Amino acid sequence: MIGPNARTSALPGYPLARIPSIKRRLIESGVDVIDLGAGDSDGMPPEGTRRALVEAMDREQLHKYGFQQGNPDFRRAASDWLLRRFGQAFDPTTEILPLIGSKEGLAHLAFAVVDPGDAVIVPEPGYQAYLGGAVLAGAEPVIVPLRAEKQFLLELDDLDEQLLDRTSLVYVNYPNNPTSAVAPRDYLERLVARCRRHQIVLAYDNPYCDTTFDGYRAPSIFEVDGARDVAVEFFSMSKSFKMTGWRLGFAVGNATLIGALSKVKSYIDTGSFQALQAAAAWTLDNAEALVPSLVTELTARRDAAVAALAEIGLPVQAPLATMYLWIPLPAGIDSTRFSTHALEHEGVVVLPGAGFGAGGEGFFRIALTVSPGRLREAIGRLGRTLAACRDAGSTTAG
Ligand code: PLP
Repeated sequence: MIGPNARTSALPGYPLARIPSIKRRLIESGVDVIDLGAGDSDGMPPEGTRRALVEAMDREQLHKYGFQQGNPDFRRAASDWLLRRFGQAFDPTTEILPLIGSKEGLAHLAFAVVDPGDAVIVPEPGYQAYLGGAVLAGAEPVIVPLRAEKQFLLELDDLDEQLLDRTSLVYVNYPNNPTSAVAPRDYLERLVARCRRHQIVLAYDNPYCDTTFDGYRAPSIFEVDGARDVAVEFFSMSKSFKMTGWRLGFAVGNATLIGALSKVKSYIDTGSFQALQAAAAWTLDNAEALVPSLVTELTARRDAAVAALAEIGLPVQAPLATMYLWIPLPAGIDSTRFSTHALEHEGVVVLPGAGFGAGGEGFFRIALTVSPGRLREAIGRLGRTLAACRDAGSTTAG
C-alpha cells in the first residue's frame, strides 16, 4: 500500500504543526495575536552578522557546495569559541561538524550509532528530534519522565542495569527545554560515568548554554573527565544570536563519533550555504561582545513574566537559563484545553505540556520571545483563560 511506513506512522504529530494556520486565521480576522509558542525571539541577528553575510555573498567560492567539510573558517571559529568558552580544545577538521541546525544533527546521530532494536533513552518532556531520531532509525525509544521532584534531571542511575546494557544512545539537554532546569556538576559526572560503564553514546544537547541569568554559567559536557569517550555535544547559532532561520549549528566530539555522523550526513545532505557559515564564523569570533545584550533582554523578559504570572495565580520560580518558563497548571486543568482556549479566545500562543509527551501534562510553556510589555499583556489574557477553564471545570464537575 502507498503511504507512510510503520516508523513514520509511529511518530506523534509535531506539536507546533497546527499553530501557524490557526494563527494566520486569527490575524486575518483582526485578532492581536501574541505568539509565545516557538523559541523564536523577536528582533534580528547582530548587525555585524548581517554585514558579514552581505560581504560573504560576493565571494564566489562560498556559493559552491559545502559538503560536510563546509567553510573551514566556521570550523576554525567553532574550535576557537569552544576553547575560549569552555577551555576545551577540539580539532576543527575531525572533531567538529557543521550542521544544518542542531536539530538535524541530533536526529541523524541515531542513524550513525544505533542499530535497529537497540534502546534509545529519550527524556519526556523533551525536544522532539530525540524521539524522531530514535524511531526513524528503527530503535526502541525508552521514554524516561523528567519530574519536578527530581529537578527534572534524567538520572540513568535510577534505570534498570539490563536496560542500560542494551541502550546505545541517550539524549540529554541542560539547560533544558522545556523545563528550564540546569544540571549540577555532580549530575554530569554521574551521567558520564554511567555512559562509559554501559558504552552508551551521550548526545548532550546544549543550545541554551549562553542564555543564562543571574551569573549562572552553563558547562560543556566535555568539562567532565572521560566525556570525550562517549559524548557528542550539540551547539546552535539559533538562540544565542537570534539566527533561528539560518539553520546553523555544529556537533563536537571524538573523531570516531563525529566521523560517523559526517558519514550519515554525506548520504543525506551536501552541507549548508557556506556564506551563512562565513557569517556565523564572524559571529562566534565576536560572541563575548554579542551575548550580554541578549542576556539582559531575556532577564528583563523573564522577570516581567514571572511577576505577571504570580499576579494571575500561576507562581513559577525564575529559571537560571533558557528562554522558557515551564508553568505548572492548577490541578484539574488540562494543558491542551488551556492552550487551545488561550489561542482561540485570547489570541495567545502557548504550548501545552502534553505536546512534549505525556510526561509534560500538568504544565504549559511560554517562550520569552516578546517585550516585557507584550508579555504582561499576554499573561493578563492567560489569567482570563485560567478563570474560564476553572469555570468550565466546575460546570462540568457540577
Ligand atoms: N535542542 C533543543 C533543546 C531546542 O530547544 C532546539 C530548538 O528549539 C534545538 C535543539 C534545535 O535548534 P536548531 O535551531 O539549532 O536546530
